[in-house]
Amino acid sequence: MSELGYIHNRLVRAGIEHDPEGLLAEATRPGMPVVAIAGEQAILNQNGGAPSAMLPGAIEAETPQERVLLGMLAGRPVAGLLYEASLADRIADAPSLFAQDLRSIAMQGVVPADELGILAQAKSLLSWHARHRFCANCGHPTASGAGGLRRDCPSCSAQHFPRTDPVSIMLISRGEKCLLGRQKRFVAGSYSCLAGFIAPGETIEEAVRREVLEEAGIRVGQVRYVASQPWPFPSSIMIGCFGEALTEDIVLDRDELEDGRWFHRDEVALMLERKHPDGLITPPPMAIANHLMRTWLSGEARPA
Ligand SMILES: [Zn+2]
Repeated sequence: MSELGYIHNRLVRAGIEHDPEGLLAEATRPGMPVVAIAGEQAILNQNGGAPSAMLPGAIEAETPQERVLLGMLAGRPVAGLLYEASLADRIADAPSLFAQDLRSIAMQGVVPADELGILAQAKSLLSWHARHRFCANCGHPTASGAGGLRRDCPSCSAQHFPRTDPVSIMLISRGEKCLLGRQKRFVAGSYSCLAGFIAPGETIEEAVRREVLEEAGIRVGQVRYVASQPWPFPSSIMIGCFGEALTEDIVLDRDELEDGRWFHRDEVALMLERKHPDGLITPPPMAIANHLMRTWLSGEARPA
């Protein structure tokens, strides 16, 4: 199973739109397993074993702000519940529950890999509900509809559907070298692939070429899709690509990047293994940048 975070999801989503309200009503009955998010954190269950994203039921004496249908698990519907962020503090003394942010859950492998995708799905969908309480068309308060698969406006009848924001992330190579950069907010010594949101009306390939030209002054020719990763901060999808550089001279956009340069493949291998003589490192295996670097080193992306 790939080490990439958030890409495995045990829930079956196919077909749930046929009766989402009925399934959600069933999923929120007492004693049905649920997934809970409190603000930016997931509530995990550690009752008598390894931590799990599946709670045995809704949290007693707490009222969820939102309830959404996530999918089916072993033939039973599963709901995602959104609680106030302060719930994380109120359960501090609970023996079987604890709160943790999704990045560290993925980095530390706290829950099984196929539950990470469930948490990412729940957080993305519930965050969207929390941020879209008013109609973008007329400004009236909206209400959750179709089991949380959309929001409805009772004033102008507009239906609003959850959005996913596409981000292109690219490993740009030229022969034996690849282009990596770092932003100020990165941990010390960490270099990653360049990335940026895809603009309206833009193809993935155009977005890759534009971002690299803007941030590093490098012209990119052929672009190839490699893999994608849900990124629930709050609701993105990372679209991983390889791109072949046509030029070599880097002109950094210092507003975007603190540093950026070409790295020889041997140097990238040392960084991935945490053995670089200068202490340079890459993002962790749960991140798609790491996956792109490993795939590139495997030779798959070497120019023909
Ligand atoms: Zn409206």
